[in-house]
Amino acid sequence: MTDCLFCKIVAGTIPSTPVYEDEFVYAFLDIDPKAPFHAVVIPKKHISSADEIDSENSFLIGKVFEAIAKISRQENLEKGYRVVNNCGEDGGQTVHHIHFHLLARRNLAWPPG
Ligand code: 5GP
Ligand code: ZN
Repeated sequence: MTDCLFCKIVAGTIPSTPVYEDEFVYAFLDIDPKAPFHAVVIPKKHISSADEIDSENSFLIGKVFEAIAKISRQENLEKGYRVVNNCGEDGGQTVHHIHFHLLARRNLAWPPG
């Protein structure tokens, strides 16, 4: 998708600070962090939102969570972390390329509000 911000980040036409990369997944630091550690973890392939997950692309979500476990070890997040997916208007999604916020290094309130 040529007009998608996160596709441009994957392509490198918009710069980002990398945290992790493999064949299927890219993770980079959020430009407006909501925790001392805040990465955005995405499948490289464009999927608009969690509502677009199907039997063809769902393996990519598994790859995202494999990557999160690797990032946890890489970044020493042994105290824990939160993974957040915002979906659609009421979910607060602003970028329409599915992404998972990986938030850590502070005590995260629950419920999130
Ligand atoms: P959403 O609100 O859709 O769940 O999350 C989008 C996230 O992308 C936000 O946390 C926002 O700070 C981040 N973001 C938006 N534009 C950019 C950008 O150009 N670079 C980076 N690194 N993060 C961005
Ligand atoms: Zn995209």
